[in-house]
Amino acid sequence: MRAVQLVAHGKPGKFELRQLPESSPGPEEVVVQIEACGLNYLDLWLEEAGLPIPIPLPRTPGGEIAGLVFRTGSDVKDWKPGDPVAIQSNLFCGECEFCRRGEESLCLNSELLGVQRDGGFADKVVVPARSLVRLPDEVDFESSAALTLAGSTAMHMLTSRAEIRRDDWVLVIAGASGVGSAAIQIARQLDARVISTGSSGAKRSLALRLGAEFVIDSNNPGWPAEVRKITEKHGVDLVVEHVGGDVLLKCFECLARGGTIVTCGATAGRDIKFNLWPFFAKEQRLIGSYGRNRADILATLDWAAAGRLKPVIDSVFTLDQVAAAFTRLRSRSVLGKVLIKPNSVLAG
Ligand SMILES: [Zn+2]
Repeated sequence: MRAVQLVAHGKPGKFELRQLPESSPGPEEVVVQIEACGLNYLDLWLEEAGLPIPIPLPRTPGGEIAGLVFRTGSDVKDWKPGDPVAIQSNLFCGECEFCRRGEESLCLNSELLGVQRDGGFADKVVVPARSLVRLPDEVDFESSAALTLAGSTAMHMLTSRAEIRRDDWVLVIAGASGVGSAAIQIARQLDARVISTGSSGAKRSLALRLGAEFVIDSNNPGWPAEVRKITEKHGVDLVVEHVGGDVLLKCFECLARGGTIVTCGATAGRDIKFNLWPFFAKEQRLIGSYGRNRADILATLDWAAAGRLKPVIDSVFTLDQVAAAFTRLRSRSVLGKVLIKPNSVLAG
């Protein structure tokens, strides 16, 4: 099988497309033939050695995988070759106290697919059978690869970690990103009023098309004042934040009394210093969100099947263009998702 391996960290890192022996599944594992795989900031952090844990190389990145079951291990009863599947990329043990109550995002033995074991920028991948999710007929491989990780991250933030009430003001940071583009749609479906930020006209136009009522230029350092103006000084009830650093601090400037910030990323910085006094005096909340549960993926795919959540695909690359795909995502001009389609190379 062919697989793209990261062989040296860097910005850009060094990738090699290699021919590897066919992998065989363990008793409770399956081999999935990959049809499409989404690229995420997690992959960039792996590339740049920016993760809090050292990752030995070579490693095949890619966690947002959709494809067909190719081979099953001897103990796998629920799947057969040809089944269309997505993969829950936060691999979970299924046995710890958190997994037993459906909170795989908190699994004590979790592993990130494409980070701690080889992922989807390859023809095939070996994963535990329990990580498979059946793809609905209405959801094609590209849509799945654009939503399963980023969309379910947003679903987890908006429906599992935080809660939206009708007519709440919701601020979605970076609405043209993978998480942001899904978050705008989910918040609108839940009858919230959405404000979003974007650093270019194209990104702000996309946020409007997805359902944001107002968009704000995040290059303007005074953007929180605009949010307060739009909401007539009320501020926003919920912020969907995935950037971190100073952006997270600015979110507090536009947060309503009793409001909540839910955050799942820190591309702009992990260490922040903030003033606790207004935070507790206004009874605000800061909620962490990490990955997703099975329920969030099922909801994401159900919503996609029903047309309530649409993938936004920026560009599609082949397996021998993976380095270019990473460069594209790092350029920060991406609208929605960057995908890799491994088997379009095989066909050619
Ligand atoms: Zn577990």
